[in-house]
Amino acid sequence: MPIIPEFTAKYIMTSEDGYFRFKFCCGICENTFVTGRISAASADEAFKLAANEGRNHFNRCYQCKRWVCDWHYNEDEMVCEDCAPRVGNNN
Ligand SMILES: [Zn+2]
Repeated sequence: MPIIPEFTAKYIMTSEDGYFRFKFCCGICENTFVTGRISAASADEAFKLAANEGRNHFNRCYQCKRWVCDWHYNEDEMVCEDCAPRVGNNN
């Protein structure tokens, strides 16, 4: 069974009418992903469901462990652009 890294993106949780909603933020930029309304017994439970959804929209840097959006992810190196900038189009 593969080891699934813990989803630790910065987030803001809101609750409304008994539902939870999470907004996850890229570790580098202002990009966010907002989940749909989540029905759960507790905030902990809701976070687990939200993380399953949110992790599909972010990538984990294997060096600094931040979760970043696709735009800031260097998939060749499996790290973020801060740790290993992609080779630019100049040169
Ligand atoms: Zn990084």
